[in-house]
Amino acid sequence: MEKNNTLKLKFESARKYAPAPESRSAAKINAQYELFINGRFEKPLSGKYFDTINPATEEKLSQVAEANDADVDRAVKAARNAYENVWRDMPGAERGKYIFRIARMIQERARELAVIETLNGGKPIRESRDFDIPVVANHFFYYAGWADKLEYAFPNRRPQPLGVAAQIIPWNFPLMMAAWKIAPAIATGNTVVLKPAETTPLTALKLAEIIQESGLPPGVVNIITGAGATGSALVNHPDVNKIAFTGSTEVGKHIQRAIGGTAKRTTLELGGKAANIIFDDAPIDQAVEGVINGIFFNQGHVCCAGSRLYVQESVLGEVIRKLKDRLETLIVGDPMDKNTDIGAINSRQQLENINKYLDIGRAEGAEMYQPDIELPGKGFFCKPTIFTNVAQSNRISQEEIFGPVLTIQSFRTDDEVIEKANNSPYGLSAGVWTDKGSKIFNLTTKLRAGVVWANTYNQFDPTSPFGGYKESGYGREGGLHGLNAYVKF
Ligand code: NAD
Repeated sequence: MEKNNTLKLKFESARKYAPAPESRSAAKINAQYELFINGRFEKPLSGKYFDTINPATEEKLSQVAEANDADVDRAVKAARNAYENVWRDMPGAERGKYIFRIARMIQERARELAVIETLNGGKPIRESRDFDIPVVANHFFYYAGWADKLEYAFPNRRPQPLGVAAQIIPWNFPLMMAAWKIAPAIATGNTVVLKPAETTPLTALKLAEIIQESGLPPGVVNIITGAGATGSALVNHPDVNKIAFTGSTEVGKHIQRAIGGTAKRTTLELGGKAANIIFDDAPIDQAVEGVINGIFFNQGHVCCAGSRLYVQESVLGEVIRKLKDRLETLIVGDPMDKNTDIGAINSRQQLENINKYLDIGRAEGAEMYQPDIELPGKGFFCKPTIFTNVAQSNRISQEEIFGPVLTIQSFRTDDEVIEKANNSPYGLSAGVWTDKGSKIFNLTTKLRAGVVWANTYNQFDPTSPFGGYKESGYGREGGLHGLNAYVKF
């Protein structure tokens, strides 16, 4: 009892940092945003706008245009015109100069972009500042470098652009997903119509301002806002040559059905339910920290989140104890505070979805653990959650929750954990923690996942391809593979 009280005191003091809020002054957010078409901000033909909010406070940040079919058509026409008359035939070295300029401007405005990403998306400012925005700039730099070297990327194959790319992205890494889509597409001579997610349009619209200032020829990048109907109109537009979609498996399947029988190329980056595997010879403290990073990073709003933890039986008790202790020290709250580890859930709808899974987990007989903390009174927040006593067939271990929720199961042998890890409709990523190189090689060759991290988690680099198996989609983004998705031979 006394020990528990001492621990509680220790945890409470660990959480009591003086607030260190990031200033909002760097972020200039307009009261209203239009559609970015042909290098200009244009009022929507639909005449409609919708609100975009801060999920940590529920306050309105701005209102953005809602593109209808006619707006989508305008954007695609602008992209087609720029493709045929300017961009396709521009020498790669010239294209590269524009992309390098955009990359430098992103770096110069990194602080503003990070603040807006956090205000609109709910992720901790530390993450937007130290992870998202640097990765965004790196992607533009990386693909700018390829623009005049495509003949070396694909020797003796004469790569040609595809045409107009329709790009649809989700809300969990808004600007990063935009960079992953736009940079390789325009480096290879394609033009783009991008639609950000309806809850997080603001950094994409800031990128539109940067693109306008950069002098990129009008129509090469068009950014239109709206929800599913806008995305659907873009997918179904007859003059689109390529669809690059990142989002849920459900919408991915819908898109695939919609374009069946057309010549449109696609890459689909969909959901995930990654297994993170700890062997008994792993450095346990390091592994526990990696598991925390793997699932609680960005509130678990990560397609490759390590949401299923498998621990070798002999160290199960130790790992669970250490995870619980670490959970007690995590700081959940104001995403603009530099101390915050877990920010706001992106929307009320997503919070309701996560809470639904917490109920399902308990009803399935799993044991739920959450730290004893208070959540802010306003906004959408969820305590980091661990489920033990989980069965492989439980919905919480099979379905993507997309929130800060971890299931824990044990295993005895390599073969058993490989079978359990692969027993999922998804196959985006996985993690392995062990001291033995031979085990790493054994698992990485047998795990059916697009990315397998060993003794680390959630590492991204523009030179590394990323993408899934099975219902996690197909096609790769990043690296040379990412270029390949935007050329024909
Ligand atoms: P979502 O599928 O609901 O929406 C994604 C985008 O598609 C949004 O811009 C949305 O407006 C648009 N959309 C919705 N209906 C559409 C339709 N019928 N036609 C065309 N577009 C449509 O996904 P979400 O909730 O925004 O994002 C979460 C999902 O994204 C999770 O499943 C996550 O795993 C996945 N994701 C995958 C990756 C990856 O690289 N594999 C990366 C990030 C997120």
